[in-house]
Amino acid sequence: MKGTQTGGRWYRALWARLRTPEPVPDGASAADLTAIRASLERSDRVLQILAGMTAGVTGRAFFERLVEQLAGTLDARYAFVGELCEDERVRTVAVWADGAIAPNFDYALAATPCREVIGLQTCFYASGIRQRFPDDRMLREMQAESYFGMPLSDHNGRPLGLVAIVDVKPLGVSERERSMFEIFGTRASAELERLRNEEALQLAAQVFEHSRDAIVITDRRRRILQVNRAFTEINGFSAEEVQGRPPSMLDSGRHEPTFYRDLWRQVLRQGWWQGEIWNRRRNGEIYPAWLTVRAAGGIRGQGHYICIVSDISEHKSYEARIQHLAYFDGLTALPNRTLLLDRLSRMLANAQRERQQVSVLFLDIDRFKAINDSLGHLVGDQLLQQVARRCQTCVRDADTIARSGSDEFILALSHTGSEGAIAVIEKIYERMQRPFDIEGHHISITLSTGVSIYPNDGFEPESLIRNADNALDHAKKAGGNGYEFYASDMNAQAFERVMLDNGLRRALEREELILHYQPKVDLASGRTVGAEALVRWQPPGEPIVPPTRFIPVAEESGLIVPIGEWVLNQACRQARRWLDGGLSTFTVSVNLSARQLLHPGLEKLVRRILEDSGLPPRHLDLEITESLAMRDADATLKTLLALNEMGVQLSIDDFGTGYSSLSYLKRFPVDCLKIDRSFVRDMADNAEDATIVNAVIRLGHSLRLRVVAEGVEQPRQLAMLRTYGCDEAQGFLFSPPVAAEEFERLDLTSQADLA
Ligand code: C2E
Ligand code: MG
Ligand code: MG
Repeated sequence: MKGTQTGGRWYRALWARLRTPEPVPDGASAADLTAIRASLERSDRVLQILAGMTAGVTGRAFFERLVEQLAGTLDARYAFVGELCEDERVRTVAVWADGAIAPNFDYALAATPCREVIGLQTCFYASGIRQRFPDDRMLREMQAESYFGMPLSDHNGRPLGLVAIVDVKPLGVSERERSMFEIFGTRASAELERLRNEEALQLAAQVFEHSRDAIVITDRRRRILQVNRAFTEINGFSAEEVQGRPPSMLDSGRHEPTFYRDLWRQVLRQGWWQGEIWNRRRNGEIYPAWLTVRAAGGIRGQGHYICIVSDISEHKSYEARIQHLAYFDGLTALPNRTLLLDRLSRMLANAQRERQQVSVLFLDIDRFKAINDSLGHLVGDQLLQQVARRCQTCVRDADTIARSGSDEFILALSHTGSEGAIAVIEKIYERMQRPFDIEGHHISITLSTGVSIYPNDGFEPESLIRNADNALDHAKKAGGNGYEFYASDMNAQAFERVMLDNGLRRALEREELILHYQPKVDLASGRTVGAEALVRWQPPGEPIVPPTRFIPVAEESGLIVPIGEWVLNQACRQARRWLDGGLSTFTVSVNLSARQLLHPGLEKLVRRILEDSGLPPRHLDLEITESLAMRDADATLKTLLALNEMGVQLSIDDFGTGYSSLSYLKRFPVDCLKIDRSFVRDMADNAEDATIVNAVIRLGHSLRLRVVAEGVEQPRQLAMLRTYGCDEAQGFLFSPPVAAEEFERLDLTSQADLA
């Protein structure tokens, strides 16, 4: 039998052959005629048997009947049907031996005639089978003399198994015997294939029923035929309620009719559609879903559609939460500094066009710390909320009031010069005169304010805020409960900045910069898996200058580029030495500033330093903050993709404080999120912060990112992070940043205990 021939055609050809009696030779004797008649009767019996077998018997019973009849028809002692299984073995599904059904067995094909059969060859060995296959133990034990075997295959010719008979005497191999044997084989093939298909269908049905996504199957006219269990769980409708109805019954009403028209148009044209959609549950609730629609060809050409609906509302609520977090202060619900910067820069762009002034007010509550310490955080928090509310009543819609730090507020007032600023301040101060009633305490407060004005005191949001902050310092030093305008002579700091800038230039030449390393601990294993490199400046004979003081100056002057190069170089060389020293999974994290990220030579620089230091790219992790530079997303994206291509890892530093827009998290090839330490700091005492940390971890994981917590100082924080499933942690609890030599002396195993 050729593998490519279909069972049906074979069957018909054999049938025809059997029906035609063998030619009666001229001058045949009576005995010959009796033999021919007997043979004809036997063929008739085969036809009857086969007809009988098709009637209602399937599966195991079918094969048992088949081997019995096969042995009887061809007068063989043994008959069996075997199914091909893995590793070149055959497992029998029915065995006939010595007049009865015998137990099933399985055996290896090597060195057996069955091997030839599985190779898609029908074999008829009338005698001498043991001599031909001396290594076949089974044939030896059976004392076999003859063997017929026929491959069973599916309609594509793929082997499924075999049917064979064996006898201890020679078997007849006339055309008729062969034909009869092949008819049995053809039936066995068909049944075996049917069984396989049935199994595959059962499996598909299980997948359908147990899928976590809702699955809907419709007919060509988009009437629902079938839904699975998840459909009922997600949408609340039972299968009976939806059968015969269109899937548009889930329509939320939030999409234009054209939306669905375009959807189905694409399905008709391309065979599929995929995207986000709003659906309505039975209880009326609207939820976001990810929908896939596919056209599926029906067996009888009638056509079906398959719709798969994943409920993404949980994912979405994280998204909304993070969006809100990114722009608003959790306590007062005022815009945060990020949103303020954004609005202020728009205001300034307008003011420039319209030649208008903008005032920036930096407000601070006098002696807030004392109130907080004596009356407790709860009272402090409520006070901040009420102050925020009272301030809000003093500004116009076009203005922005933001919370910037613990007890600091920044106001950006459009179309406002010094006179307007004073009017607003006085109004605010007047509103503060009435004491605040909080938890039985009457609290009276005063404020201090610093003011800077565009364009006199600066052109950029950052410089205006900085100058207002300077002015605030003066107002505080003057005793509080007052306000000061920024004046250039006030800017002693500017002088310091120039000094700092000059000093920094020399620092690079004189090698006064040093790197400290802070371990990053994997929470699952407790092992130190890397370190963050943090730069310090050590002017000779003076105290160490922290990066928070000189990095902004270096950013402004552009010195950050050579400093950043030095840091990267040092860190990569040091990491290479530690790799050589046996820390095989070690990754060094290096901070990149916005200016470095936008510098066109960054990609080349990283490549060169990795080559020079011999550090494999995957051992370098670059930390980028969600700074304004991120908003120039196109330029940044190109650089990040190139770095990612190189194999370097990328982390978002201080996550939660900047533009934590999900859209760029999805677009950017980021590997890791570092939760800002301000959230970690209060998580053990502040439920809001704990929720945020938990949400960020889950969000990160849903985007397949690793999540690192910064600033872990207390065992309680660590314990919470572990229950939230945070991947790594960094903080004073393990070690502060230390010099390389000291890092080597750190007892990394004691960190394993902590973690
Ligand atoms: P960062 O990248 O978020 O670094 C973590 C900062 O948190 C470090 O401050 C570290 O000392 C501090 N820290 C770590 N664990 C704890 C803790 O448990 N509690 C508290 N309160 N603080 C902890 P550091 O070294 O002063 O650096 C400050 C920032 O300066 C860094 O923040 C980073 O943005 C920047 N920076 C440092 N080195 C570089 C550098 O080489 N290049 C650039 N562009 N920026 C750098
Ligand atoms: Mg960092
Ligand atoms: Mg950080």
